[in-house]
Amino acid sequence: MPKAHETVLEVDLSALTHNFNYLKSKLQPQTKFLAVVKAFAYGSDSVEIAKHLQKLNVDYFAVAYAKEGVILRDAGITTPILVLHPQPINFKTIIERCLEPSIYSTHILNEFRTIAVAQSQKNYPIHLKFNTGLNRLGFKENDIDGIVSKLKNNDSIKVTSLFSHLAASEDFNELDFSKLQIERFNAIAKTFETKSGIKPWLHLCNTSGVLNYPKAHFDMVRCGIGLYGFGNSAKEDKNLKPIASLKSVISQIHEIEKDETVGYNRAYTSNGHEKSATIPIGHADGINRIYGKGNGFVIINGQKAPIIGNVCMDMIMVNVTNIDCKEGDEVVIFNSEYKASTLSESAKSISYEIITAVSQRVKRVFIP
Ligand SMILES: *Cc1c(COP(=O)(O)O)cnc(C)c1O
Repeated sequence: MPKAHETVLEVDLSALTHNFNYLKSKLQPQTKFLAVVKAFAYGSDSVEIAKHLQKLNVDYFAVAYAKEGVILRDAGITTPILVLHPQPINFKTIIERCLEPSIYSTHILNEFRTIAVAQSQKNYPIHLKFNTGLNRLGFKENDIDGIVSKLKNNDSIKVTSLFSHLAASEDFNELDFSKLQIERFNAIAKTFETKSGIKPWLHLCNTSGVLNYPKAHFDMVRCGIGLYGFGNSAKEDKNLKPIASLKSVISQIHEIEKDETVGYNRAYTSNGHEKSATIPIGHADGINRIYGKGNGFVIINGQKAPIIGNVCMDMIMVNVTNIDCKEGDEVVIFNSEYKASTLSESAKSISYEIITAVSQRVKRVFIP
């Protein structure tokens, strides 16, 4: 790996291949794989990640919003793309760019059908989202009659899949609830098939669902975090490789004396003769202020350096009193050894949040 001379997010594409193959090894050969590449592929880069996964013959992509799908189409991605949370204002764009909407309510179904009919579409693929307990997005089982009546005598849209989402697939304390969601999903699928006479594909599992509920893979699985190297458990983290390394460099070292303060609002006071290092990464780059005041840390020459004082917009200061280091030395915020999940714990957060927070100002570098 090259040494960082500025703040960079290095993305290891061979680790992505490893994670993809590992997750695929958990599936039956006929089970389709949908890669979730929303939010810049969890803070890395949706275009480079999607290009790489398309080469590995992934079956589907999912993004949250239409705009994210447009970026992939502009980059030449031809694999089908499911838009998980579309808004009616983007339905024309969705059709223009061959994106496939999740239809999660009667309102959304009506709006999308109207546009598809007005454009004389034929069998435009849609995906029906059902709520089985997350209470976020989705139809209820008793909406099925209404849905079926809107699909009858109308070939402008076609239901490609039926799906739902688990609320706590990573949490074994919620085993019974996850099983209940699986049961509800099976019942919904059965009712829909009987009433509509069509048999769309079914999908339910995210990464932890894939790992923890092998009997609930149905026809397709939707993996995000696992592709990026996190398995939501110590056991699965061992089988996956974090693809992203956030690195920076020491800009300046200060020697400070007892009772001198560091940073805005004088939030850190030196306890004696100390050394601080200033790093060119701040809250505008994704280091939330919660990591300040000793909560978070970076790694310099293999040692932990706590963030002192307040996180600034463009910089942090860290305590390097006991670390042998100099200006220009590399700083690791997270990588495959010092994991983002560990750093996120210091802010009572999760890997998902810290990796997706790396802002677009940070340069992305891809390692083949
Ligand atoms: C984000 C998302 C996923 C991916 O979940 P991971 O835990 O990252 O694997 C799957 N399905 C839906 C509906 C999502 O919103």
